[in-house]
Amino acid sequence: MSTINILGSTGSIGTQALQLVRLHPDRFTVKALTAHSNAQLLFQQVREFRPEMAGLTKPIPMEDIPADLRFCRWVMGKEALRVAAAEVPADQVLVSVVGIAGLQSVMDALNAGRQVLLANKEALVTGGHLVMDAARRIGKPLLPVDSEHSAIFQCLQGAADNQPVKLLLTASGGPFRTWDKERMARATRAEALNHPNWSMGAKITIDSASMFNKALEIIEARWLFDMPPEKIQVVVHPQSIIHSAIEFADGAVIAQLGVPDMRVPIQYAMTYPERLPTGSKPLDLFALGQMTFEPGDPVRFPALRLAVECLNAGGAACTVLNGANEAAVAAFLREEIPFGAISTLVEGAVEKLCHLPANNLDDIFAADAAARAAVAELLPALR
Ligand code: NAD
Ligand code: MG
Repeated sequence: MSTINILGSTGSIGTQALQLVRLHPDRFTVKALTAHSNAQLLFQQVREFRPEMAGLTKPIPMEDIPADLRFCRWVMGKEALRVAAAEVPADQVLVSVVGIAGLQSVMDALNAGRQVLLANKEALVTGGHLVMDAARRIGKPLLPVDSEHSAIFQCLQGAADNQPVKLLLTASGGPFRTWDKERMARATRAEALNHPNWSMGAKITIDSASMFNKALEIIEARWLFDMPPEKIQVVVHPQSIIHSAIEFADGAVIAQLGVPDMRVPIQYAMTYPERLPTGSKPLDLFALGQMTFEPGDPVRFPALRLAVECLNAGGAACTVLNGANEAAVAAFLREEIPFGAISTLVEGAVEKLCHLPANNLDDIFAADAAARAAVAELLPALR
């Protein structure tokens, strides 16, 4: 039996993690749940899973909590994340909040010696060196939930002491894979939210359309697997069956395959190194028929180029890329800017702020704030 705290339990990853808890009631007990603003769903989850603690980062008055849910400790505001990450004892902490909000939680959980299951890629993108140092200090590897990084982690289980010479990071290419730049620049919110293979939260779905998701994942892979960017190759694979692969010195390539279903990587982190049923459909290679591959296009998708430039710049450049992207995606989702403005805004912020330092969390949060301010300043001209 493992105990688990879930930060961001009402999201796409959080709700799927709870489906897996429901599937294996003899294996998991939920100790803490947090959400941002979806109080109604959190109430249902608390009623079903009966955690010791629950909280909303967007506070509501205590009198709004239904009487039958007062058995658990309620914490409001940012403190909810800290308590769930570091105070309520649990074997595992799943960080599945979206955005840089996850960084402090990951650090809090690691500093409390907790095993972190990491869905929130933004924590590594913005504070990768600090997060990896903290994980090394407590001697517990971060267990990746992101499907590509879980795939690489799974492939590495068969690597013995051999270091891969290359990571092959697959990408679906998103809804605009075949669109030209002009058409993409005018894409609507609905078009960008229409992902061909995966059903995910709004922010990561927009990131998939712009390929900023893959940009963030290059940075995530750099930290998780200690690989320089020139050894991380993006491979566009529209069927999303190969979730990523590693190449060895002898030319052998090991890949992880399966139908696109996040329950598999989520549960692998939850039960590692054991494997249990997930409810996912088996892969039918005959029904699939064929798989195709193409290179990522850094001209139509500047995110791919910007990720490598920011990694090479070092300091807080990746934090700036992330903060500017979060602000630009939020503006696009509010329908304030056209789709094409997202990468223009990020590039503008990176050009202005790529020299900022990232020696500690304060530096990182300052760089994030500066990136958001730069986007706010550049945005009116791009409306
Ligand atoms: P989502 O938008 O569906 O859910 C986000 C969760 O975080 C919700 O529970 C929400 O209440 C909470 N939240 C939102 N803003 C918050 C804030 N400011 N502070 C604290 N909590 C907040 O997102 P998602 O798709 O589940 O993605 C979560 C994370 O997992 C992201 O970092 C994403 O990149 C990563 N991820 C998701 C998928 C996927 O399939 N959805 C795949 C790989 C990686
Ligand atoms: Mg991914």
